[in-house]
Amino acid sequence: MDASVIETLAALQVIDRRIKDKETELAELEKETGGQRSLLEAKEAEAATAREELAQVASRRRDLEAKLQDEEARMKERRMLLGRLRNDKEAGALQREIEIAKETNSRVEEELLTLIEQSEALEGNLKTLDEEREAIAGNVARLGEASGGRTQALRSEIEAGRAERDSHAERLGAPLRRRYEQVFQRRNGIAVIAVTDGHCRGCNVTLPPQMWNKIRRGNEFDSCPSCQRILVWQPVAEAPAAAGES
Ligand SMILES: [Zn+2]
Repeated sequence: MDASVIETLAALQVIDRRIKDKETELAELEKETGGQRSLLEAKEAEAATAREELAQVASRRRDLEAKLQDEEARMKERRMLLGRLRNDKEAGALQREIEIAKETNSRVEEELLTLIEQSEALEGNLKTLDEEREAIAGNVARLGEASGGRTQALRSEIEAGRAERDSHAERLGAPLRRRYEQVFQRRNGIAVIAVTDGHCRGCNVTLPPQMWNKIRRGNEFDSCPSCQRILVWQPVAEAPAAAGES
């Protein structure tokens, strides 16, 4: 197998690793912005619910206040009427009516107090929610400003990188290309690895001497029996992190 194939594999791996890093950075940027956006949506929904609840409480309060006002007017009339009544039976009946109305009114007043407390609690809650929402909206805007340019740049760099890697990949035979791509995916971006002192530098496994002799002669591409990476004799661009990985 000629040296140019090894060069192509090595170049392809350099480009693919660069693309992979950019894709990771892009995904992280998008995840961060997306996370803040969903948080903002959740806060907005929560605030909308609280506002709805507050409107219901306010409407109930208005109804009860109107009812109480009517009752007060009627109570005034009853008292005036009571002063004019000369018939004891009628006066007694009216007195009972007044007592019942008083009890009803005091229950309405109690409910009104509860509603006022609820309104205050809901208003406080809404204020907090609005402050939180504003803070998150600020984050979203800042993130958008900070990462917008970078996101755009990463997208076009990834696109350019893909075109470049394809032009290299085309030079490889289909089976080798497939093998390279599969191992690149499975082995965290290192598909081609050098043999050093009879060991695979990808996973450190000791290779049988006849295998590395064959690789040294460069006749064909062998895969590491342990990590399946494509073994080459000369060093290729790789990540130091790969050492020791199995
Ligand atoms: Zn290996």
